[in-house]
Amino acid sequence: MSTTNNPSFVLRAIEDVVFEERPIPEIKDDEALVEVKKTGICGSDVHYLVHGRIGQFIVEKPMVLGHESAGIVSKVGKKVKTLKVGDRVAMEPGETCRSCEDCKRGRYELCPDMIFAATPPYDGTLARYYRIPADLCYKLPDHLTLEDGAMMEPLSVAIHSVANLAGLRANQSVVIFGAGPVGLLCMAVAKALGASRVIAVDIVPSRLEFAKGYAATETYVPPKFQEGETKIQYSERNANLMKTQLGIEERGPKAIDLVLDASGAEVSIQTALFIARQGGTVVQVGMGAPEIVVPITTLLTKELTVKGSFRYGPGDYELAVALVSQGKVDLKPLVTHRFAFEDAKEAFQTTRAGKSPDGKPVIKAVISGPDVSPHDLS
Ligand SMILES: [Zn+2]
Ligand SMILES: [Zn+2]
Repeated sequence: MSTTNNPSFVLRAIEDVVFEERPIPEIKDDEALVEVKKTGICGSDVHYLVHGRIGQFIVEKPMVLGHESAGIVSKVGKKVKTLKVGDRVAMEPGETCRSCEDCKRGRYELCPDMIFAATPPYDGTLARYYRIPADLCYKLPDHLTLEDGAMMEPLSVAIHSVANLAGLRANQSVVIFGAGPVGLLCMAVAKALGASRVIAVDIVPSRLEFAKGYAATETYVPPKFQEGETKIQYSERNANLMKTQLGIEERGPKAIDLVLDASGAEVSIQTALFIARQGGTVVQVGMGAPEIVVPITTLLTKELTVKGSFRYGPGDYELAVALVSQGKVDLKPLVTHRFAFEDAKEAFQTTRAGKSPDGKPVIKAVISGPDVSPHDLS
């Protein structure tokens, strides 16, 4: 096993990925070099592979993929006091400027100079080594695995939405649209924070079955479209159906305090606005249709609070590590597929297909670092 090279998994253009030998990154005094051991594949990684862009982020030169990673510190800069060689860490993959208005007012996720792993033009973490500011490394307690560490990234997305932006309190009730990885993690966070009801909505029954066994208290499958119905008509009918089937009311203890959309689907977002209580909160975390029709009068007369949620900000990674460490969120059931580094292409194909050749649905596929066995769950 050689640790003097830096094999990297590189996206060159649409549908064109290769393994490349890259130089081992040099670190600055306040940075660490981390040997990457586990990396989860995200919808956004697959999106760049298939479409070469997300919004204004366009792949114009070869880029290393991956941003959901954990590893072992192999080198630290002279000024680093918080880390030492050998520490097992989860890596927050967004490096901010620290001096702009957004950084200084505590909303660093909005930093215009964000350097985010595997968002063009910046390289990601699917390599042997990754260079990172030391304060973006979060030490993992001994009883957590490096896979848990990689999963802190999507968990932080959920924590940012549910705990930070929505400010969910104990005994509140929540509806979550979309039972993919982020939706499931939002359910887990809502449950961990003491939600009374966690209602999962998805069009795929097998996903709801999983959600029920994982963190949802109830599930709901939306009906089919009726002929001639507009999306907004459908969504209002869907919300009314949900109210009857699940005993949801506009006010009082049976009302829904918080709705999260982790699907990005227009009808889900519309239904979210119809189903939230008077004075309730709706948080958009799923990225999907860029423009939709909004029932604005409903939003206005119910005085809804609507928030957008993008990545994570101050305190989110810390809370993620704490909730998993305390046993309040279990990340293990979400890792459904594991691949060796040299099988990274297959890992992407599997995530893209949504299932492996044996028919098993993918929730999260994890790629091990070079020379790390996918079966190594330390
Ligand atoms: Zn991601
Ligand atoms: Zn900034």
